[in-house]
Amino acid sequence: MSQEVLQTTIDFFCSHQNDVEFTWHGGEPLLAGMEFYREVSKLQKQWISRGKKISNFIQTNGSLVDDEWAELFKEIGFFVGVSLDAPASVHNRLRTFGCGTSSLSYVLRGISKLIEKNIFNGVICCVGKRNFNKPREILDFFLDQGIKSIKFLRIKGDEQEAISASQYADFLFQIFNLWIEIDNPDLEIRDIKSIVDILLGGEFRECTFTGRCDQFATVYNDGSIFPCDRFINEPRLRFGTVFEPYTKVLIGENFQAFLAEMRVTKELCHGCCWSSLCNGGCFKERLSNEKGNICRANQKLFEGIESALKKYGLLV
Ligand code: SF4
Ligand code: SF4
Repeated sequence: MSQEVLQTTIDFFCSHQNDVEFTWHGGEPLLAGMEFYREVSKLQKQWISRGKKISNFIQTNGSLVDDEWAELFKEIGFFVGVSLDAPASVHNRLRTFGCGTSSLSYVLRGISKLIEKNIFNGVICCVGKRNFNKPREILDFFLDQGIKSIKFLRIKGDEQEAISASQYADFLFQIFNLWIEIDNPDLEIRDIKSIVDILLGGEFRECTFTGRCDQFATVYNDGSIFPCDRFINEPRLRFGTVFEPYTKVLIGENFQAFLAEMRVTKELCHGCCWSSLCNGGCFKERLSNEKGNICRANQKLFEGIESALKKYGLLV
């Protein structure tokens, strides 16, 4: 991303919002280099001094994180999430360097440096054919590494690796039961935490349960704006660019069509007893061919978790 696009992106959002969260993604975002993030911090400080609240998250494969990177992220206040698959045998198969060597030891080294600096934002672990039937091994692996914040992501679309919505919901339910069994208050499984928290009247919600996909935007290298990164380069969802006035983008045809489509899909939830929890779910998934299966799988998961919470006397 050029200096011009970077500055314009920061100005575009910070000039119209009081509380902005930036998440830096790649490819591998550390390849942008340390100077890039120093510049980000410098540009954002101009807005912070005007009273804006700005947070930064970065999602990396972790293999490049060393003392210098950890020190920099600590200094500029970035929280760092790492992509790490589990158990180790699965990571070793799926995440290798060009030469075929596993990245695992480098990733774990990076995570330990982030934990040391107190800027570790947990792992994202992909769940597919190789590991959906290994929930206990997955949690044991993470806990052995001192990793207590986990988000799971279902692998879709890849014939070799993908699992169905129903297999994924069953996996999450087993993870929920293990989480209860382990009974470690520091262990945060973000997908489960959202459901439990909402059922118990709390407020923690992953984006999937907010019903506010319009609050997320992805800016590409050329400054073009799309919804969240699940909608990679879908031309009908290109809202405009950061070089246009903010209000022009908001009243633009594509953004308005996106809002209307969100409203219509949400209306389909009318009558579903889980709508106050689920809020229409992930908009990207609601547009997919498997939306019916996803709903059925999620409803079964919600029911299972609700019954268990009642059984444990946590919910009446
Ligand atoms: S489970 Fe399906 S129908 Fe029910 S609220 Fe969620 S998305 Fe809507
Ligand atoms: S489309 Fe899905 S992933 Fe994207 S913001 Fe909405 S809920 Fe989140």
